[in-house]
Amino acid sequence: MTNECKPRIAVYPGSFDPVTLGHLDIIRRSAKQFDKVIVAVLNNLSKNPLFTVEEKKELLRTATADIPNVEVDGFRDLLVNYMDKKEAHVIVRGIRTVTDFEYEMQLASTNQKLNERIETIFMMTNPKYSYLSSSMVKEIARFGGAVGEFVTPEVEQALRRKYSDMN
Ligand code: ADP
Repeated sequence: MTNECKPRIAVYPGSFDPVTLGHLDIIRRSAKQFDKVIVAVLNNLSKNPLFTVEEKKELLRTATADIPNVEVDGFRDLLVNYMDKKEAHVIVRGIRTVTDFEYEMQLASTNQKLNERIETIFMMTNPKYSYLSSSMVKEIARFGGAVGEFVTPEVEQALRRKYSDMN
């Protein structure tokens, strides 16, 4: 098979703790650019996540159910090794601010050093969501605030359930 015939597979890795409308905007836009987009939830306990990987995957699956070329998966491998397994060559990341840019550039350079076939592609946030982060959403939900503007109804409900279980 020549390179041209291979499906163009991108991986959008992240914590997604939980998925926000900002993430979903990036997923929708990248699904238009690639044959397949794998949304890959990093299993990283050092970040002290609110949701389990299974819960995060379920919320992502529900939110992306109408996009046929999006697949949701989890990984705990080095990203470049995971990408090899999935035969993916492109990493998609979202950029909101200059601070994001500095961190993302370091990450992209490291991944390129580890595997020079891998390209990182940055998508600028939709300005509507430039302030939006999972941590901000969690902070609001923790104190009983409404997060319906920032996440899907299923995520809003899951947040409510999590925090009421904790109290
Ligand atoms: P990570 O812990 O890997 O940064 P996140 O779930 O916070 O995981 O973010 C995953 C990716 O989505 C990152 O590239 C991040 O910059 C991007 N992202 C997060 N929120 C937004 C948003 N509101 N708009 C665009 N990109 C975003």
